[in-house]
Amino acid sequence: MKRNLILAPGPTQVPSRLCDVLGKPIIHHRTPQFQGYLKEVIEGLQYVLQTKNDICLMASSGTGAMEASVCSILSPGDKVITVEGGKFGERWTELCKAYGVEAQVMDVEWGKAVDPAAIKEALGKDKEIKAVFVTLCETSTGVTADIEAIGEVVKQTDAVLVADAVSGLGVTDLQTDNWAVDLVASASHKGLMLPPGVAFVSISEKAKALIEKSTSPSYYFDLRKYLKSATKTDTPFTPAIGVVIALSESLKMIKEAGIDNLFKHYERLAKGTRAAMEAIGLTLFADESCISNVLTSVNVPDGVDGVKLVKTMRDTHGITMAGGQAQLKGKIFRMAHMGSLDEYDVLTGIACIEKTLNSAGYKFNLGDGVAAAQKVFNS
Ligand code: PMP
Repeated sequence: MKRNLILAPGPTQVPSRLCDVLGKPIIHHRTPQFQGYLKEVIEGLQYVLQTKNDICLMASSGTGAMEASVCSILSPGDKVITVEGGKFGERWTELCKAYGVEAQVMDVEWGKAVDPAAIKEALGKDKEIKAVFVTLCETSTGVTADIEAIGEVVKQTDAVLVADAVSGLGVTDLQTDNWAVDLVASASHKGLMLPPGVAFVSISEKAKALIEKSTSPSYYFDLRKYLKSATKTDTPFTPAIGVVIALSESLKMIKEAGIDNLFKHYERLAKGTRAAMEAIGLTLFADESCISNVLTSVNVPDGVDGVKLVKTMRDTHGITMAGGQAQLKGKIFRMAHMGSLDEYDVLTGIACIEKTLNSAGYKFNLGDGVAAAQKVFNS
């Protein structure tokens, strides 16, 4: 049987320990047994998010947690700043528009990160801004934002800071409390190594004050319902029971490994990948100053069909990577370092890229990429 190695930026590889849990019979969610799992999940997420804030869980993909953040803290006509610079930054703007929120867009060049000083200036000019929406790791470009510096700016104002950490949570550092991030939205199917199904939001006291005043027309994603249930270690609607139970196990695995060790592990995988790509003459898409350890985006060399490259990797070699989105379609390919991956998975991916590029007529020394990654992994 052909391998099915997922090097795409979500959903990611699920380790066998979690597959075993996912295969267990379902239990009812209004039971002390499920409540026990829920308690473990909240505590585990607080560890990964590095926060003491309340965490609300919902049954949706990551976008649900983003939508819940927008519609629960704002009211129609409110003004906010959205930081773009990729597909997922744009999603914040689209969500705000859907709820009649006036978004002042900070348009960042794709491949670069927002300058926190620009956010400071924008907040200084308009004291009515209620929230700043950012993306921890912009998956469409492979850029990690300087959330710490942005938090430092936003915390000195009345605005709240909202971060999309769908990509990157558990993979790259995000110190929710130390960096003053008021709402963090994320989900189960990337760094937490599970199938999709559970999304969640952490909520600060500053954000709760806004939530109380929101008049947005929401129902399922109204965080007031989730906060109320959370006081009883419960959820307002039927949760994705099986994924929640597996999440309690995933969070145990993360705690056993130690979050800082995991950040180092993923950084190593990213460094090996970057070295490999450069050794075979490819260039990286993201600016060096903000390059992400969550995924690596690589420019497709001239004369190679980028869409075909990704398709051949998947259909011929059983390795799923991602291509470019929107204006980057066919121009980049993206290899993620999230989920249950080790050095050998990355080496397999690199060897396969070499093979596919070689067949496509791109000239380089076969094996140079694998050797460069090996050097990083053996150092
Ligand atoms: N934000 C980021 C940064 C993402 O990478 C993704 C998924 N690729 C999303 C949001 C949306 O998540 P979902 O597809 O789970 O709704």
